[in-house]
Amino acid sequence: MEKNVAGFNEFGLGSEVMKAVTSMGFEEPTPIQKKTIPVLLTGKDVIGQAQTGTGKTAAFGIPIVEMIDKNAQGVQAIILAPTRELAIQAAEEMNKLGKYKRLHALPVYGGTSIERQIKALKKGVHVVVGTPGRVLDHIERRTLSLKDVRIVVLDEADEMLDMGFVDDITKILKTTPAERQTLLFSATMPEGILNISKRYMRNPEKIRIATDALTAPKISQIFYEVRPSEKIEALARLIDSDDGGIFLVFCHTKKEADEVATNLKFRGYEADAMHGDFSQAQREAVLKKFRDSRIDVLVATDVAARGLDISNISHVVNFSIPQNPESYVHRIGRTGRAGREGVAITFVTPREERQLKLIKAVSKADIKRGKLPSKEQVMEARLESLKDRIQEVVDDKNFDRYLSLAERLIDGTDPREALAALLKFQLGGYESETPSRGREEVSLDDTGAGPGMARLFMTIGRGQDVKAGDIVNAISKKADIPRHDIKNVSIFDTFTFVEVPRDSAERVIEFMHQSIISGRKVAVAPAKPKGDMGRAGR
Ligand code: ADP
Ligand code: MG
Repeated sequence: MEKNVAGFNEFGLGSEVMKAVTSMGFEEPTPIQKKTIPVLLTGKDVIGQAQTGTGKTAAFGIPIVEMIDKNAQGVQAIILAPTRELAIQAAEEMNKLGKYKRLHALPVYGGTSIERQIKALKKGVHVVVGTPGRVLDHIERRTLSLKDVRIVVLDEADEMLDMGFVDDITKILKTTPAERQTLLFSATMPEGILNISKRYMRNPEKIRIATDALTAPKISQIFYEVRPSEKIEALARLIDSDDGGIFLVFCHTKKEADEVATNLKFRGYEADAMHGDFSQAQREAVLKKFRDSRIDVLVATDVAARGLDISNISHVVNFSIPQNPESYVHRIGRTGRAGREGVAITFVTPREERQLKLIKAVSKADIKRGKLPSKEQVMEARLESLKDRIQEVVDDKNFDRYLSLAERLIDGTDPREALAALLKFQLGGYESETPSRGREEVSLDDTGAGPGMARLFMTIGRGQDVKAGDIVNAISKKADIPRHDIKNVSIFDTFTFVEVPRDSAERVIEFMHQSIISGRKVAVAPAKPKGDMGRAGR
């Protein structure tokens, strides 16, 4: 870790910016940042070209924050971006970078009240991030003056060009001082951009990060074509067919990560989620469990997994296909470390085939199509590994305390039958429709509920903002039973227990399982008597 932080240290940045960079979770500068930041700090004009997602905002944002005089009046930097979303994003990043220096960046864009922006501008801001049309509008209304500007950034210049903003940009540039520093960032460099740069930049230094520097590590890479609804099942099978595997599963969103982890737990896996909503302490607690092998499936978002230092991951699973080739390479680089063999698995839905093609082309990765193991194959694999483990225990000979039970078991029973029964007991879950490791079927008559009632487990909880009333309403409406028959709702962070009359319980499960409550799909099943979450198993 220390070593990586040194990457940012080498720029000689002030402690306020360094603190911001650290708190944003950046560990080392991206290639475009490494090359651009030192040059920008010397005051030179720069044309930066690097692919989307490579951290161009911070490449100019860090030096801007560093160079701004927080006590001076007037707007000191203007960043032009093509769309409202990109302007908001860049302003957010600037505000994060400027947080400890107490700098203020304001996004201004069209399609929204200009009055509010005028008010905010009046208060005084250090940096304006705006779309060209709206920025020009403000200049013409004299609600924004660029006479104190020292730095101009044309961000995502290729897109601004495509959107026909050249005239607006020209007009805006004319209102800025001639001795400004002008920066231009773009993913591609069409002719038009070079023309702009010739006219408005002074002896710019061109910094280009070649895309073909990206190469996926040499690990075994497989993709499975699955429909979205099949993903959980596919993941469960893959985990089951690789006994002892350590899985890092990537999801797009926090919500998805939570859902996948909850679902896996529900099926009896030792899984946990980790995402951006977790505090540092929570992150560390989950990581410790993962390192100590108390969980063997970690479901994470890219953000949460960034900077994870775990060396024994056997499988990386892209539960959701990465948004870009860089992210793919980054994700799968988590496995196969320290000379170990690693496997990278990617789920691809039919609509995502183009995305897969792009990843393959850019990262030059050899991703082979795989066929999901059938239930029988999974069963076979589990039997095989169980056989090995039993053999180990047999060789170890450390089982005296079980010998007398064993003798009683085979007393009057064929030893083969006794053993087979024991295996069924151990692997039973796989005979049911939903494969679940070691999760025995729970009967509705044995759920730990009060007399005449059955207690149900539901995969929704406080974390999804549901209240007891929502649960009662949903069950009452969907399963058509009176509200007063629904009792003892206890809501936890990720799950809920509720009691319903025993003779309506099947119906409740039938109507509620896979139904939507408060916008979320929930699984519903008989609760286990002691109220644990079906964590039996491994
Ligand atoms: P670009 O403009 O090149 O498309 P962005 O500037 O939007 O890329 O950055 C993409 C993401 O990468 C952002 O979420 C940003 O916070 C993050 N990022 C930028 N620099 C770093 C870094 N050094 N380490 C980790 N993440 C970074
Ligand atoms: Mg950008």
